[in-house]
Order: sequence, then structure tokens, then C-alpha cells
Amino acid sequence: MERYTKVCEEIRIACKANTLDENSVSLIAVSKFHPIESIEKIASYGQKDFGENYIQEALAKIEQMPNLNWHAIGPIQSKKTKDIVGKFTLLHTLATESFQKELEKRVPSDAPQEVLLQINIGKEDQKAGILPEQALPFLEKTLLAKNIRVTGLMCLPPLHEDPEVTRPYFIQMRQLRDNLEKELRIKLPQLSMGMSGDFKVAIAEGATIIRVGTDIFGSRPNPPTH
Ligand SMILES: *Cc1c(COP(=O)(O)O)cnc(C)c1O
Repeated sequence: MERYTKVCEEIRIACKANTLDENSVSLIAVSKFHPIESIEKIASYGQKDFGENYIQEALAKIEQMPNLNWHAIGPIQSKKTKDIVGKFTLLHTLATESFQKELEKRVPSDAPQEVLLQINIGKEDQKAGILPEQALPFLEKTLLAKNIRVTGLMCLPPLHEDPEVTRPYFIQMRQLRDNLEKELRIKLPQLSMGMSGDFKVAIAEGATIIRVGTDIFGSRPNPPTH
């Protein structure tokens, strides 16, 4: 409880410092590798939104706790699309045309899927995501796709202990979002950015969704062996 309460309090303080309504930032508790008992505990404090990176692990947990809001925050292979349709409140990591096409094919019209475009804001070779300069054409295509609702952008910037090193990437994300909104005359209200080490800086730079694991659950156990 103490860790979770502390994170909620830090969010409240960061919002106040930036003259934001404290409800303007959503907290996702990132529960990857943590057992269902730990999720139940955090859920019992009133936390509703949980994030998972690995589809198999996520689906097993969703089956056990279907009433929570589940967020897919890791890479998703397009061949897994049929397994995930209807399971997640928000997919944070749409970044390839093949996945977009699969989604369009499989998402039913009576239950559109909300998604964010993952941006490779640090242009790192090893990371997934759309390069910033490709965001506009990719978004234009996504807007034409049936039953997919894009509400914003997500990033996983280069990791650094000092959040001040990460700040410029958060600023670039907000500017990219603002430019896309202007260019296409649409609204992209959501910016999913900021983790345990840097969520306060992310909030200051415009994050509306933060994804926090370690600060809530403590250090992660080893990944389950399959
Ligand atoms: C694991 C993970 C997080 C949470 O990281 P912490 O440092 O434990 O807060 C957030 N976002 C993504 C995409 C992750 O993979």
C-alpha cells in the first residue's frame, strides 16, 4: 500500500505543480512478471488500469481478472491479433502496417479498438516504433482504417538514470503530437510516456498516461519460464 500511495501522491503533487487537474493523468500499473496476487492487492486499493508487455502472460491474467482495464504496452506480432481483439482497453504499441491491417480485418464494427501509435523517439535501432518523420503518413493511413480509433502517441525513450536527460524526448513527443494535430485537423489527446524513474518529468511535459511498474510493485521477479 505504501508504495502505491506514494506514487499516487507524487502524481497529485506533479499535477499541482504544473497547474493540471489531478484527474488529467492516468496511472497504469505495469504488472509484467508479477503474480496475480500482487495485482489483486493493488486492485484492492482502487487501481483499475494495468499494463502488460507479453501477450501470453497478459491473456492469462485477463482471464483471471476480466473486470480490470488492461493495456498492451509491449510489441504485438500481427499473427497474435486474433487473440487480443476485445481484450484490451488500449493498445499502446501500434507501429507496423501489417499489425494495422490485421487489426482492421479483425476488430468488429460494434467494438472499435482504441490505439496509440508507438513512436521511436530516440531513433534507436533496437527499439520498435515509428520514426518521428514517418508518423504523419502512418497516422494518415491509420485514420482511414475501419474500427480503429487513434487517440494519441506512446514512447519508450532511451533509458537514463537522470530524468533530465529524458526530458527533451518528452518535449519532442509533445511537439510531434501538436504538429500532427495541426496538420490533420484532428485531436490526439493522449501521450503515454513516463515510467518509474521519470514520470514526474513526463507529467511536466504533457504526459496524460504514465506507465509505472517498479515504484508500485517493487523490483520485478524473473520472467516466468515457458
Ligand atoms: C516495464 C515497462 C514499464 C514500467 O517500467 P518501470 O521502470 O518498472 O516503471 C513501462 N513501460 C513499458 C513499455 C515497459 O515495458
